[in-house]
This record gives sequence, C-alpha cells and structure tokens, in this order.
Amino acid sequence: MNSAQWFERAQKVIPGGVNSPVRAFNGVGGTPVYFKSGKGAKVQTEDGTELIDFCGSWGPLILGHARGEVVEAVSKAAADGLSFGANTAAEAEFAELLTSLVPEMEMVRLVSSGTEAVMTAVRLARGYTGRRKIIKFDGCYHGHSDYLLVASGSGLLTGGISSSAGVSPAATEEVFVAPYNDLGAVQEILKANGDEIAAVIVEPIAGNMGLVEPEPGFLEGLRAATAEAGSLLIFDEVINGFRLAPTTFGHTVGIEADITTLGKIIGGGMPIGAIGGSTKIMSTLAPLGPVYQAGTLSGNPVAVAAGMKTLELLRDESPYLKMEILGKRLADGVNRIAAEKGLDLHCAQRGGMFTPFFRKAAVRNLDDSKACDQKAHAAYFHHMLDHGFYTPPSGFEVAFVSAAHTEEHIDRFITELEKI
Ligand code: PLP
Repeated sequence: MNSAQWFERAQKVIPGGVNSPVRAFNGVGGTPVYFKSGKGAKVQTEDGTELIDFCGSWGPLILGHARGEVVEAVSKAAADGLSFGANTAAEAEFAELLTSLVPEMEMVRLVSSGTEAVMTAVRLARGYTGRRKIIKFDGCYHGHSDYLLVASGSGLLTGGISSSAGVSPAATEEVFVAPYNDLGAVQEILKANGDEIAAVIVEPIAGNMGLVEPEPGFLEGLRAATAEAGSLLIFDEVINGFRLAPTTFGHTVGIEADITTLGKIIGGGMPIGAIGGSTKIMSTLAPLGPVYQAGTLSGNPVAVAAGMKTLELLRDESPYLKMEILGKRLADGVNRIAAEKGLDLHCAQRGGMFTPFFRKAAVRNLDDSKACDQKAHAAYFHHMLDHGFYTPPSGFEVAFVSAAHTEEHIDRFITELEKI
C-alpha cells in the first residue's frame, strides 16, 4: 500500500485522515506522505522513497531520527516499565538537569505536551497574580487550549475572537491580541488594563508564522512593561528551547521570563512538556499551592529517558555551531537563487531554523507573513518533495536543519531548488 492508499483508508476512521490538521497538506494540496521509518536526516516512506527531512517532527528531532543513544535509553527505560504514575529517580535527575541548564527555572513541572505546559503556565500566572486577562501575539501559537486559540481581535483594546469553533467567547474575551514586534501596542493595552493582566505570553523567536525574529528592544520592552504592570512574562520556548544553545533563548540573551514553557526537544521525540520558573512562582502549583495541575503520564519514564539523553548529548556535543553554519549555507543558497532569478523570495534563518518566505520584503509579523505568495510556497514544497526533500507542508511554519544533516544534504537541496 502506498501513501495515497493509506490516506484513503485512514480518512474513513480518522477525521481528515490525520491526528493533527497540518499533516493533511491543506496548505499545499496533494496527498500527505506516509512515513515508515527514519534514521539521521532521512526518512523512508510507504511509497518506497527516501526523503531528506527538514521538518524533524516539527522540531523535536534536533539530533535527527532514531539517534542510537536516545533509542537505547528509551529501550532500557521501556524494559523497566512504561509508566508508574509514581515518583522515579529519573524524573528528579531530569529536573535537576533542566534547572541547571536553565538557571531562571529554579523548579520545573513535567507534563506531556507543549499545549499542556502552556495551559498550566497561564493558569499558574492567573493563580499567582490573582488576575484574569492575558496578552498574546498575533501569529504566535501556544497549543490548542481554548483561550489561546485566538486570532487577531478587531481592536487591540477589545478581547480576541477565537479562530476555532467550539471555543466559548468567555474563554477568549480575556485575551488581548497584539501584533508581534509591536511593543507600543502592548504598552497601550497595559496602560488601559494593567491591573487586570496576569501575563504576557510570547514566543521569544516566533516560529508559527514562519521564522520571525524579535526586533531589538522588543523582548526587553516586554520584560520592563510587564514588571511595571505587575504582570508575569511567559516565554513559550516550546520551539526555541535548546534550539540555539543547550539552554533557553531567554537565558542566552539575558532576558529572564517569570515562567518558561518547554516541549519538543526536551522530549527527544517522546511526548513531554515542562513549565519552569522561580521557586516562589512554582510553589503556587498543587500540592504546595492552590493552582491545580496533574497528569497520569506526567514525568513518564520513557519520555524522561529520551529527553535526558537528548539534552545530555546536546550539552556534551554542542552541535549548535554546525547547525548555524549549515542553516546559513542553506539560507545563503536560497537567497542567491532568489536574487539570480529575480524571485519574490527570501529565506529567514537563525541557527538551524529557517523559513523561505515567498516575498522580497522582510517579515516582522503575521500580516507580513500572510502577504507571502502561498501558491509559490506550495509549488516549492511539491517540487522539493518530488525530488527527495520533506519540508513543512505549510508556508507558516519553520523548517529545521538538525545535527544529523550534512553539507551534502544542504547542497543537494540548493541544487534542486535551482531547478524550480
Ligand atoms: N507552543 C509553541 C511555541 C509551539 O510551537 C507548539 C506546537 O507547535 C506548542 C506550544 C504546542 O505544543 P504541542 O504540539 O506539543 O502541544
């Protein structure tokens, strides 16, 4: 059976044939690819093809697919028991490692996904401050909990409007939405509503409208404005964390969030999420404090083993410079082709993260990202897929160069792109 046949079969029993919507290829058209196995930078498909993978399971696979040491750690943990719902030494060690690598997190609580981490972070911020409202940024994705599924509100000073059916307006009325990189908008909201705002939540480097970097002063300004208003600053580092260094982005740039959320890389491909912050704030969580959070599989030993080994390898091998060099090689190649051929295209890149934006002008927020040519992105996606490369099947995502990629993979990508 090939991908098309599997997809037809799956659609009868799974809504849309997928367990997460973007996998349906709605953004690029065509039939989704079914993956069979992966090793290093490559995956094998049910169509008998081999692809060089620049999606990396949407970010967790910074060491590439099925890295030997990680698989070994997982196998060992699994053989010792898949879940206990009780305490293990490994989860204490993992929390020690996380808090040592991210010093602003004096304490950390493990959950099973990024969504869950953010959900808990927001509840914690509300419980800690005794305030109800939050500010998020248009184009930043923080998982699929009700109050964070908010598109741009009609005005900055009104509550947001949900981008999903089934979300109670009551949930999103308490969420203000500001354009990314617009510190003035946040200051305005805080000026009018400061004593009601529990938290401002942001992806320090945005990855869910394509790769959009914070402009100089933006994150520093958020830090200062929230501190002044008595609101908490939440850095959602589910994508950013451990991506550019063996720590958070916030720690790297010396801007300390009150609460940090992590996911993806820290589970090395297994389901995990984490919320961390100062002992004072984290002590608001049950059983120490009144903010409830729990999970049957929280701190799951197999996920912890995968995460632990992944972070140890990142700490010890530090593949970050290599990923930066490869990422730059790729972006330079894309930008050279765009210039030579006069294409409306430029490639944003930071470390191993990159997004080819199909417009010439820089992208600094969601409106800019939406102004890109999505048809051109779809044509690029399918051209690359047909020639052996898997990139995120959406123009609003970030792609990843992993530690398992090589110069040869990058150069092949560029050679293929040149034929577009
Ligand atoms: N936060 C950010 C910044 C994300 O990119 C994502 C997922 O892509 C999430 C939270 C949600 O994480 P998960 O998909 O593990 O629930």
